[in-house]
Amino acid sequence: MNHNLFAALRGNFPQDRDSVAIETTDAVPHYYTWRDIDRATAMLANLLESLNLPEGSRVAVQTEKSVEALMLYLAVLRAGYVYLPLNTAYQAAEIEYFIGNADPAVVVCSSKNFGWVSPIAFKAGTTHVFTLNEDLSGSLLERAAHHSDKHTPTLCQHDDLACILYTSGTTGRSKGAMLTHGNILSNALTLKAYWGWRGGDVLIHALPLFHVHGLFVAAQSALINGSKMIWLSKFDPKTVVANLPRATVFMGVPTLYVRMLAEPGLTREACKNMRLFLAGSAPLLIETFNEWRDRTGHTIVERYGMSETAILTSNPYRAEDGERRGGTVGFPLPGVGLRVQDDTGQPCPAGEVGGIQVSGPNVFAGYWRMPEKTQEEFTTDGWFKTGDVGRVDDKGYVTIVGRSKDLIISGGYNVYPAEIEGFINEMPGVAESAVIGVPHPDFGEAGVAVVVPKPGTHLDDAAIVQSLKTRIANFKVPKRVYVVNELPRNAMGKVLKNQLREQHMGLFSQG
Ligand code: AMP
Repeated sequence: MNHNLFAALRGNFPQDRDSVAIETTDAVPHYYTWRDIDRATAMLANLLESLNLPEGSRVAVQTEKSVEALMLYLAVLRAGYVYLPLNTAYQAAEIEYFIGNADPAVVVCSSKNFGWVSPIAFKAGTTHVFTLNEDLSGSLLERAAHHSDKHTPTLCQHDDLACILYTSGTTGRSKGAMLTHGNILSNALTLKAYWGWRGGDVLIHALPLFHVHGLFVAAQSALINGSKMIWLSKFDPKTVVANLPRATVFMGVPTLYVRMLAEPGLTREACKNMRLFLAGSAPLLIETFNEWRDRTGHTIVERYGMSETAILTSNPYRAEDGERRGGTVGFPLPGVGLRVQDDTGQPCPAGEVGGIQVSGPNVFAGYWRMPEKTQEEFTTDGWFKTGDVGRVDDKGYVTIVGRSKDLIISGGYNVYPAEIEGFINEMPGVAESAVIGVPHPDFGEAGVAVVVPKPGTHLDDAAIVQSLKTRIANFKVPKRVYVVNELPRNAMGKVLKNQLREQHMGLFSQG
């Protein structure tokens, strides 16, 4: 049997291959049928095969989001090579690291970056550099146009490598998570069943393609259900809201929900055909969760996942599976094992905070060319240490408290930033906050809070400290509070705590 992921996706395309699979939201929309996807991915796969690349070759891709970039991903799977997406924000030094580490045979970049990407690639031993632009120009499609639009998907085993996803590196050097055809397919099938994908579903795709959320969770869920996508090349709240009446499913990172709430057009009426709003990749504030429900009548399903595993837990879709609880990431998905352990490797009782470990067919095969790191991150009985800290309550709901590397140890006590952020966020006038630990001569580490006010509000740092002192133990109260206009975030809406830490590193050591 062929375990090629592309073959499995194509097996679920609708019978009517001439129906629309993807509709863009450009000024002049483009329509792609299922047949277009099949033919274009065949041509690209044939182009890749004509290059006589060694087996298991990596194809590294740093291009702007386009339907053709999605086709390239599918073509790499189809031809049995390994897809390696790169964040479009990465600059030369970062690209040099990824290309040096992954050693790709093929690199695809935008024409505007060819001048600096190609020397880096050729120096690292890459044999082919193609270009692909948002306007469909570039050498990749020109070359593919000369190839046949028929192609039999390459025979793959379920444990053959399909993708390398570099972790966002918010807590250290980026590592390449190796995902197999079997890892990705198992998660896609689980999500299809758990989130009740059905005939007639239409997904609004507004996420980047270089990350697990936009690539596996969003695009692939639609493909494996044979569902149409309404495609935005860049997130724009007005465009999403305008398209809601024609859609049934939307997936976003929390910041996208916040930006959509600022649109007056977001009403119950606009959402009346919607079936499901999903959020993840970063914590969804309870305020956003509640405001969304009040405005639209829909309760967001928050879920939790990561590059190494795709999706691990989700709030229930079906009412009979339980209520959707804001502030939690729901239950482990069917087939996913999740446990919480303390520092000594003992299981934590219900409700107690510890390190989250997971197992299941979706868990990756290890970090690319980092065997020691891989060994460190797996327990002796084969569970993956996610690096997230959290708890499971007596009903089985999982709550993420933060990354273990963000944990603050102040005067020997553990301080969980998410707990302090929760208290600060409840204060009047606060939009959001981030709490970090920085070196302190007496306490080892001290908490620092960085707080963003709601528009038009004035916040007083001393008043925030005072208010916290009446509500939480003194050792948890941040030693310093900064009021700022915004928090630094990466493209997936995650707060860049390492950047904040660096900024405030010398705060207590200077004298
Ligand atoms: P990435 O590999 O870039 O997808 O990042 C994965 C990390 O994002 C996880 O390990 C979590 O720390 C965080 N994350 C993902 N989903 C959530 C969520 N719903 N709530 C809180 N953190 C999340």
